[in-house]
Amino acid sequence: MSDIYLFDVDGTLTPAKSKITPAFKKQFSRWMKDKEVYIVSGGTFVRIVDQLGLEIMNMVDGVFSCMGNVFYQRRDQINQNGYSEWDEVYENKFTGAKNLTRSLNSYAAKSDFPIKTGTHWEKRPGMMNFSIVGIDATPEQREKFKEWEGDFGERKRIVKKLSEKYPELDFVIGGAVSIDIFDKGNDKSQVISRYFAEALEHNQIHFVGDRIPAPGNDHTLAQALREHPNGAAYEVETWEDTAKLLKTEPFA
Ligand SMILES: [Mg+2]
Repeated sequence: MSDIYLFDVDGTLTPAKSKITPAFKKQFSRWMKDKEVYIVSGGTFVRIVDQLGLEIMNMVDGVFSCMGNVFYQRRDQINQNGYSEWDEVYENKFTGAKNLTRSLNSYAAKSDFPIKTGTHWEKRPGMMNFSIVGIDATPEQREKFKEWEGDFGERKRIVKKLSEKYPELDFVIGGAVSIDIFDKGNDKSQVISRYFAEALEHNQIHFVGDRIPAPGNDHTLAQALREHPNGAAYEVETWEDTAKLLKTEPFA
């Protein structure tokens, strides 16, 4: 039996929507050297590369982006620019629902939060991302939303309403200010059924995330692993927690 490690990115390896810090990058890449490591993020592949940098990306065993809706693995070759080549192993299509974007626009318009930057939803492979403050909000505007919202109150309320209206879709609180939307079941837990089901029978699989309590975007994957005797999930609040966690069993 060997160990396989899965990591969320935002809030787990990096500050939300930001790059990994130089000191932790050093620690993490040193820790990774003899480990089997996968990334499972709500973000797009391009954003993950930007956040983690090429050094870490060149050492991971695979990258599940957009909530596991797209899976990339490195080819065993480096191109002439010295960068790795990546293959897209699979990509899910987002079916969505009729009138969904109209509902999202109306929730953005009706929210009492005063700053709205215009574009409130964005289609990504296999999913959609919704934000009251707006997809293009500045870090300061996002920070204002976080302070205003407190304990995820506004997003919990909207997730509840949308889930009732669109039972064929899943809505989860993702990242610092947004809601992730996907066809039911196409959440982070799909990495188990699509890729790790057999590996889980013969290996210990560990997942680290910062949004494990429902309706956080790490919840379903954490739950799927916790239900299996060979699976485990670890909740962190920040990358600093992850840095400490790596020094303890079964990571050390
Ligand atoms: Mg996260």
